[in-house]
Amino acid sequence: MNNLLAQKEDLKYIWHPCTQHKDHERIPLIPISHANGVYLYDFDGNSYIDGISSWWVNLFGHTHPYINKKLSEQAQRLEHILLAGFSHQGIIKYSKRLIQLLGKGFDKCFYADNGSSAVEIALKMSFHKHLNQNHKRTLFLSLEDSYHGETLGALSVGDVSLYKQTYEPLLLKTLTTPIPKTLQDLPSAIHHLEILLQDYGNQICAMIVEPLIQCAGGMNIYPKEFLNQAYRLCKQYQIDMIFDEIATGFGRTGTMFAFQQCDFIPDFLCLSKGITAGYLPLSVVVTHNEVYQAFYAPYEEQKAFLHSHSYTGSALAIACANACLDLFEEENIIQKNQEKHKFINTRLQELESFSCVQNIRSLGMIFAFDLVNLPFDRAGLQFYLLALNEGLLLRPLGNTIYFMPPYIISESEIDFVFKGIKKVLKQIQG
Ligand code: PMP
Repeated sequence: MNNLLAQKEDLKYIWHPCTQHKDHERIPLIPISHANGVYLYDFDGNSYIDGISSWWVNLFGHTHPYINKKLSEQAQRLEHILLAGFSHQGIIKYSKRLIQLLGKGFDKCFYADNGSSAVEIALKMSFHKHLNQNHKRTLFLSLEDSYHGETLGALSVGDVSLYKQTYEPLLLKTLTTPIPKTLQDLPSAIHHLEILLQDYGNQICAMIVEPLIQCAGGMNIYPKEFLNQAYRLCKQYQIDMIFDEIATGFGRTGTMFAFQQCDFIPDFLCLSKGITAGYLPLSVVVTHNEVYQAFYAPYEEQKAFLHSHSYTGSALAIACANACLDLFEEENIIQKNQEKHKFINTRLQELESFSCVQNIRSLGMIFAFDLVNLPFDRAGLQFYLLALNEGLLLRPLGNTIYFMPPYIISESEIDFVFKGIKKVLKQIQG
């Protein structure tokens, strides 16, 4: 197999996600033969540093020896079992560990197999909880520019028109409120929310947010003070707070979970992506006993939460999730990332000298800037293509370039990345 052959065969049979296939008439598809650490290798022997952790899932590099070992051991014992009426050792262990790790305010884990499904579950659970308590509420509240996935419910609470606009006629009725970009905007954002809640507060099941940073919406970092105040307001109207930590969970924002930087505990926490360090699809919605108890009743009362997915809590995925927590514990990842953040941030700030670079920002292990003032369309795409030539996978969000590396990236690899970024910026600026 070589790149050309793999590209031809692939495009003959596969319809890729988030892709206008006509683009592949001029944009090469990159077939990957194997991967190791931060490196991906194509069939012609070219290597690429995975600067976006393959859509933010890969926390510990590719083909990690410890996760590989745990996964193959699990495959010898039990690959999968339905989770209704049955259970397995790995998932009991993982749930106990996760609840202990999350601390007070979290009691129960409900599993699924991808991020969007976790969001659907949290929305349905919140609606159903209110219903079981004899309150029929039908609205959800989310933030402008938010992204929560692309199934219809998750898309409904999102606000990125690129993904949403076409499907608008199919979606749930939802409300949106602005985020404050800075602390100065906080009073007006809170005022907006107050007015909205005065009008609709008693009809809203839950407010759903990506805490501290909106990732797919363009890596928008916003102050935690907004969340603290929004939570207090929501509670005045018995509105649940859903934290979608699908992107932010497992160390991305500097703490293990973003909610740990806030003053309160959300009612629902959605986790996925980094949960298995990029090995297998898995997600979990974690909530507290008060929610759980609202569903606990004799069967005939029809209060049970009857949501299910075939691959819920797959034993193989859970083995990776357990291995992932082992690595966090044994290798002190959160502390080490603090040093790594400083190192990367210094390199990032050096990009300020480029006139096409604006709005440099970072949070934990997320680093971003916007491309501006360039005399051609789709500047982000041009950047992406030139970066590939430098051995870098940096797939942008529009004209926002971001770096979200696996946590195992070394200082010399970081230097290689920024040398490449500077070279590309010079080329692009002309
Ligand atoms: N919520 C957030 C915050 C996300 O970033 C994503 C994925 N980018 C999702 C939900 C959806 O997850 P999935 O792609 O696994 O459906």
